[in-house]
Amino acid sequence: MSTAEKTTISPATAELFDQYVIPNYGRFPVALVRGEGSQVWDDQGNCYLDFFPGWGCNLLGHCPAPIVEAVQEQAGQLIHVPNTWYMEAQGQWAKLLSERSFGGQAFFCNSGAEANEAAIKLARLHTPSQRYKIITFQGGFHGRTYAAVTATAQPKYHEDLGPMLPGFVYAPFGDLEAVRSKIDDETAAIMVEPIQGEGGIRLPPEGFLAGLRELADEHGLVLIFDEVQAGCGRTGKWFAHQHFGVEPDIMTLAKSLCGGVAGAAMLASKELAPSLRPGMHAATFGGNPIAARAGIAAIEMIEQHNLLDRAVELGEAFRAQLQPLVDELAFITELRICGLMIGLEFSVDATPLVQSCLEQGLLINCTQGNVVRLLPALTLTDEELQKGCHILIAAIRQYAEALAANT
Ligand SMILES: *Cc1c(COP(=O)(O)O)cnc(C)c1O
Repeated sequence: MSTAEKTTISPATAELFDQYVIPNYGRFPVALVRGEGSQVWDDQGNCYLDFFPGWGCNLLGHCPAPIVEAVQEQAGQLIHVPNTWYMEAQGQWAKLLSERSFGGQAFFCNSGAEANEAAIKLARLHTPSQRYKIITFQGGFHGRTYAAVTATAQPKYHEDLGPMLPGFVYAPFGDLEAVRSKIDDETAAIMVEPIQGEGGIRLPPEGFLAGLRELADEHGLVLIFDEVQAGCGRTGKWFAHQHFGVEPDIMTLAKSLCGGVAGAAMLASKELAPSLRPGMHAATFGGNPIAARAGIAAIEMIEQHNLLDRAVELGEAFRAQLQPLVDELAFITELRICGLMIGLEFSVDATPLVQSCLEQGLLINCTQGNVVRLLPALTLTDEELQKGCHILIAAIRQYAEALAANT
């Protein structure tokens, strides 16, 4: 693997983006052209080791062979048909998801935000009509559509967008008493990420999810788990909530659901599902044949290669690499790991580490300004783990030295 000699894009590509692409993303000056497993190449021939493949979507690495084959085969047969027809693959996909979760039924759509919209609608449809409020959590992230971004209790995502959708109530993540105090006769649901992703890989305190389940049962509320980032095998179980022995009424999935192909789902218990009556909701591309085949292939690949166990093993290997550093360097405040959801929190701005790792050929992410977030592929090799951690640790040490020299 070569170090990125120069991270730059061609003037022609820069010109296209300047002229024709809305600048709503902060982009690194790198144009990626090819990927394989945990490696990805740019158009200058630089190779990068990817500890954040596809923003968590490429759970099985770049271009996993079973997904590529399923998509290629399906693309030659039938690319898209709408939900006015039956598609065998969609039914099989729903069955596989149901059997690995809480036995519910699936609604398919195309993105995490869309799955959460469906969940919010279903919660309101299922509860009596005066109940419309949804309790969500500070530091959470649920997507960018209006309901999903209103559910996202982070002021920076609401700036200049108001008025937001009425009916959302925010509580501190982990605080059961605060949740209890916010429940009233108009509350319909509680919506939470079992592990907050964008919020900094935050694990729920002991008993928190079980406490939410109890509150929901006590007050007749719908419990929604947003597993868009944590679900589908990333944490070493099919779904993150399975670590905590608590089941939701509704669960949303996207990101890694189809091994890198766009696709999303909302699963609802058999009791709630009929409340999404015919005609009440839809997604034109939802559960299309290509997404369905990719989704099935992703589940099969995880099982055939024991990748849930591998996620746990890799997570522990990351811990062995990174924990000594946490103990040694005062500016690292905490290491949080659940399978291959990894957050390393600093007491200082951690964004410079993204650039310094990029220059050394390692792709990582920083969220909330001070948490290095890694969402590596379940197919990462031991050698890749060693190599990437070596780069990351060197970058952290260098940063510590630079900060010390400046004080
Ligand atoms: C990424 C994410 C979303 C939004 O998914 P999109 O596909 O970008 O709409 C929602 N919830 C969580 C927990 C996420 O991580």
